Amino acid sequence: MRAQPQASHFINGAYQEDLHGRPLESLYPATGEVIARLHAAGSETVNAAVAAARTGQKIWAATPPVERGRVLLQAAALLRERNRALSELETLDTGKPLQETLVADAASGAECLEYYGGLAGTLTGEHIDLGGSFAYTRREPLGVVAAIGAWNYPIQIACWKAAPALACGNAVVFKPSEITPLSALKLAEILQEAGLPDGCFNVVQGFGETGAHLVSHPDVAKVSLTGSVPTGTKVAGLAAQTLKHVTLELGGKSPLIVFDDAHLDNAVSAAINANFYSSGQICSNGTRVFVQKGIKEAFLARLAERTAKARMGDPMDEAVDTGPLVSQAQYEKVTSYIEAGKAEGARLVCGGDRARVEELPDGLFVTPTVFADVADHMTIAREEIFGPVMCVLDFEAEDEAVARANATEFGLAAGVFTRDITRAHRVIAGLNAGTCWINTYNLTPIQMPFGGMKHSGIGRENGHAAIEHYSQIKSVYVEMGDVESAY
Ligand code: NDP
Repeated sequence: MRAQPQASHFINGAYQEDLHGRPLESLYPATGEVIARLHAAGSETVNAAVAAARTGQKIWAATPPVERGRVLLQAAALLRERNRALSELETLDTGKPLQETLVADAASGAECLEYYGGLAGTLTGEHIDLGGSFAYTRREPLGVVAAIGAWNYPIQIACWKAAPALACGNAVVFKPSEITPLSALKLAEILQEAGLPDGCFNVVQGFGETGAHLVSHPDVAKVSLTGSVPTGTKVAGLAAQTLKHVTLELGGKSPLIVFDDAHLDNAVSAAINANFYSSGQICSNGTRVFVQKGIKEAFLARLAERTAKARMGDPMDEAVDTGPLVSQAQYEKVTSYIEAGKAEGARLVCGGDRARVEELPDGLFVTPTVFADVADHMTIAREEIFGPVMCVLDFEAEDEAVARANATEFGLAAGVFTRDITRAHRVIAGLNAGTCWINTYNLTPIQMPFGGMKHSGIGRENGHAAIEHYSQIKSVYVEMGDVESAY
C-alpha cells in the first residue's frame, strides 16, 4: 500500500497500534485504490492519548514561551522542506490536485506555525494600576485540547488548531476525519523532530464515536471542531455536559454579490475560485452568486467560457486543476443535488454531469457545474452542497441583495464585487458573516481571523483572535497596604 503509516495512532511521542479498533481504510479518490489500512482508537487508546497529553502539557506549559515558539518555527521549516512529499500524500488521501496541495495545504500549515511561533514569546497579561495597590493578569493555557478535523484540508486544519494551542502552552489530541487520516501523523512526527516534548501532540484515528469519546473525556479542557453543522450541534451539546470551552468551524452557504459596476473578469475569477477550487469542497465557498441584472448575461457567458477550460484528470499531474470528490458518499450527495437543481427548474449553464476521465474510470469526478436563474427557495440555494456546484441568482437593488444574502441559517463568509468603495463597505457591514472579502474571495491569510456567525460556528481561528480561544486569563490583586476588616 502506497501510504501505509507505521501504525494508526501517535501517542506520547511514538506510533501505536490498537488492533481491537474498528478497521478504517484510506482510499485514493481518483482510482478507489486502498492506500492505507488503519484501526480506529478504542476507549483505552483515547484515554492513553489524553493521559499522555495531560503529562506533556505540564512540561510544555513550564517551557519558556520563546522556546515554545522556536519549536513551532522549526516544525514550520520541516514542513516546508518536506512540502512535496506531504503534498503528494495529501493528494492521495483527498484527491485534490497536486497543483493545489503544493501551495495550499502543508504550506498553509507552515505559515500558521510560523505565525504562532513568532507570537508565542509575545503573549502577556496586563498591569492594572489600582492607585497604590495593583492587579495583574496572567495568560494561562487551558490544558488538554481535543481537536477534530474535517476531510477537506486535513494538514491545514491540524496546523490551524495545533499552532495556536501549542503557542499558548496547551497539549493537543487530534482526531482527523476517518476519510483522511494520514497527514496528521506526519505532522506529529515533524513536531516531535522539532523538539516538542512527548505527549504534547497526539493523533488518534477514528469515526464519530472516537470523536465523541474525546469530547466527553473529563480531562479535556477544550474542544475545537471543524465539521458540519449537525456534528457541531452534537459536539457542543456533549462539551456542555462538562462545561468545556468550544470552538466550532462549521458549514456555510455563503453569498458572493456582484454589482453591475464590478470588474467583470475579476468577479468571474472570484466566482470560479469560490466554487470550483478543491472541487468545491471548501466551507467558506461563495456558492450563492448574486449577480445584478445589468451584467448577468455577460457574467454567465464569460463564466461558461472560462469554466470550459477546467482541466480534469489525474490529480498527481500538476497541469490538472480539477480532481475528483473525496468519497463515494460525497459524490452521491453532490450529484443528487445537481439532479435536484435540474428538477426544481434551475437553468443549467454548464456541467451537470458525472464526468469520466478515461485513464481513471473509477475516479469520483463531477464536472464544474453552473446553475443560473436559481430562486432562493430552491434546495440548491439553501443547503450546503460541498461540491463543484455554483448557483447564480439575479438581483436588482442593493437592499434586496443584502436581505436575500442574509436569509440563511449560515453565516460563515461573504463577498462583494463593486468599484464603488462606499457601497462595498456598506454592504459588508450589512452582511451577517464572520469572514468577508471585497473584490476578491476565499483568501485566508493566517493573520486574519477566520470563523462564522449564526449556525456556521463559534469562536475564531487564526490571527490574534485565536489566542483568546486557547488561553484563559487569571487576575491577581496585589495589596500594597494594610488589610482592613470590620472587626
Ligand atoms: P463532519 O461533521 O461529518 O465531521 C467532522 C469531524 O467530526 C470528523 O472528524 C468526524 O469524524 C467527527 N465527528 C462526527 N461525529 C462526531 C461526534 N458525534 N462527536 C465528535 N466528533 C464527531 O464533517 P466532514 O468531515 O464531512 O466535513 C465537511 C463539513 O465540514 C462541511 O459542512 C464543511 O462546511 C465543514 N467545514 C468547515 C470549515 C470551517 O472552517 N468552517 C472548514 C472545512 C470544512 P468522522 O469523519 O470519522 O465521521
